[in-house]
Amino acid sequence: MTALALEPRLDRAAEACAREGGRLTDIRRQVLALVLGSREPLGAYALLDRLKAQKANATPATVYRALDFLQDHGLIHKVERLNAFIGCTDAGEAHHHAVQFLICRTCGAVVEMEDEGIAASVERAARATGFRPAHATVEVEGTCSACATAACEGRS
Ligand SMILES: [Zn+2]
Ligand SMILES: [Zn+2]
Repeated sequence: MTALALEPRLDRAAEACAREGGRLTDIRRQVLALVLGSREPLGAYALLDRLKAQKANATPATVYRALDFLQDHGLIHKVERLNAFIGCTDAGEAHHHAVQFLICRTCGAVVEMEDEGIAASVERAARATGFRPAHATVEVEGTCSACATAACEGRS
């Protein structure tokens, strides 16, 4: 995503935070811009490296605090399998929603899905055992449609 396309999303994110009583400070905005501007999910240390280019005194704590804030406000998601972060496709709406990730083993692309039915099934199944679920992330590994198509074409 170009920097130009990013600014309106950052502005919407700032407004959404303000509605929830939070403030998208410069450092939080910078971290969000890095996450949204990346093609692949970024880990905390990759983010720190990039952030240091703009802000030499950034520390791991700076990044972790910003990531916590952005997650709390539903602007980014953590892909547990990759220990990395991606921007919410709804970033700017700052709603908190059920989320599933499709992770391509070939190209590393991560696609966010929102299927309330899956979330409800997981919750129901967990509660049936007496467990009280607080948070569930469903991550599916496989081959994305672009890579599957490329593999088919390679074979013919
Ligand atoms: Zn999302
Ligand atoms: Zn792929």
